[in-house]
Amino acid sequence: MGDEPRESRRRLLRVTGCGSLVALAGCLGSDDDENGVNDRPADWCFEDLDESVPDIEANAPSIDGVERKAPENLLSKEDAGYHCGPVEGQQCGNCTFYIDDRDGDAIGACTEVAGQIRSVDWCELWAARAKVQDG
Ligand code: SF4
Repeated sequence: MGDEPRESRRRLLRVTGCGSLVALAGCLGSDDDENGVNDRPADWCFEDLDESVPDIEANAPSIDGVERKAPENLLSKEDAGYHCGPVEGQQCGNCTFYIDDRDGDAIGACTEVAGQIRSVDWCELWAARAKVQDG
C-alpha cells in the first residue's frame, strides 16, 4: 500500500517516456541522445510538417547563401532520408542548406528538401554550415 504513489509515478514516467535520461532529453526538446539513438520511427514528425512553405522562406537563401531549388527539383523527405531528430550532432540547424525560420513559427525550410523543415532534424544531404566550419 505504501508503494502505490511510487508505482503510480513509475507508471506515469513510463507512459510519458520521461523516466530515463535519454527520454528526459526528448522531454526537454531533443529527440535523440548524444549518439542519435531514438526509439521513435525516423518519420514520426512528418505529420506535423506542412508540405507548403511560406513565401518568405521559399524565396530566401540558406544561412550560407544557397538559393532554394525550384519546387519541382526539391526532394521529398522520404527521398532525402529525412530523420526526425539529429544524428550524431548533425541537424538541419547546422546544415549549409537550412533556411532559418522567418515567419515566427520556429520551423524553417531547406534549399534541397520540400516542405517545412525543423532545425532539430537531419537528412542524408546534410553538409556542415560554412559559418560553423570557419568558426
Ligand atoms: S539536413 Fe537535409 S533537410 Fe536539413 S537543411 Fe540540410 S539538406 Fe535540408
